[in-house]
Amino acid sequence: MHRIERLKRLCERLGGDALYISSIPDIRWACGFTGSNGVLLVRVDAADLITDGRYRAQAADEVEGAVVHAPGYDLIGHVADAGLLDGARHVICQSDHLTVDAHAKLRDRLPHIDWEGRTDVLAPLVAVKTSDEIDRIRAAQRLTEDVYESLLSWIRPGQSEKSVAAEIVCRHLKGGAERMAFDPIVASGPNSALPHARPTGRRIERGDLLLLDFGCILDGYASDMTRVVSLGESDPEARTVYDLVIEAQQRALDGVRAGMASREVDALARDVIRDAGYGDAFVHSLGHGLGLQVHEWPRVTYAAEYAIPEDCVVTIEPGVYLPGRFGVRIEDVVAVRNTGCENLTRASKAWTIL
Ligand code: ZN
Ligand code: ZN
Repeated sequence: MHRIERLKRLCERLGGDALYISSIPDIRWACGFTGSNGVLLVRVDAADLITDGRYRAQAADEVEGAVVHAPGYDLIGHVADAGLLDGARHVICQSDHLTVDAHAKLRDRLPHIDWEGRTDVLAPLVAVKTSDEIDRIRAAQRLTEDVYESLLSWIRPGQSEKSVAAEIVCRHLKGGAERMAFDPIVASGPNSALPHARPTGRRIERGDLLLLDFGCILDGYASDMTRVVSLGESDPEARTVYDLVIEAQQRALDGVRAGMASREVDALARDVIRDAGYGDAFVHSLGHGLGLQVHEWPRVTYAAEYAIPEDCVVTIEPGVYLPGRFGVRIEDVVAVRNTGCENLTRASKAWTIL
């Protein structure tokens, strides 16, 4: 069934007269529009994509299942003036994407409508991937792995984190990536103990652990991978922690199934790390959904009870961080099935000394 048709059913199921979709990635998922400005209105019997004049030709070319409107920049004004919500009383909007300004303007221009804000309106639909989408994620992941493997023979002590980050970006773009999915994380020595470190001018030294976390967008879909290598002999505890993180990740890869609560999947890895005495050092969730965006619903976290759906794609990325010393995180991307998971990541996780 076309995605717009599925949204029409969703609108009916949620009891709305219309869905007001303002999340740009959700709009792309629903109707194929890749522009950066737009609103998608879905009613049980109609769908309209409203964008600005810059995208008139592009939208006409890309959009499937919705009538394209490309007035000036006042998209909300057009919704009101063109009567696109005439007769609607109750409209569901995305409270996790609609700005306060846009909400105020909607209430001002369309005062007869009751605007119901909901979070994650499309998330459970977007999370479930087709085999074509999984193929694209796999292809993005391959490119990221190729870049990682090619870097191993290039990285030397004396290079700065920033120069390694630049090389990561350059090799992805040359390899065909549209762009990076996020700024690469290149964290050496004590910087690796910061889970979301930004690359600095620090030069990599012998004895460092080097944490590399990066991903790209290829053909619309994201990749995401983290690996850690040692430059020569590092802190004696580093190898112990590395093996522990690998074991924790493997426990989650072996145990994850569609239908498990998010919290239960997180616990597969977290219990291993806690039992080894490093529980306080695993300071983030186990993973996140991935697709058109690098961070999507569902999160894989101790803080969520919802079930992980079949055919969603998530990361499994446990980590242990010892402030001032070093950190280890290992991240793979997997497709979740009823019977287990398919690991879309192939890059080696063997302890590597450069
Ligand atoms: Zn990552
Ligand atoms: Zn990630």
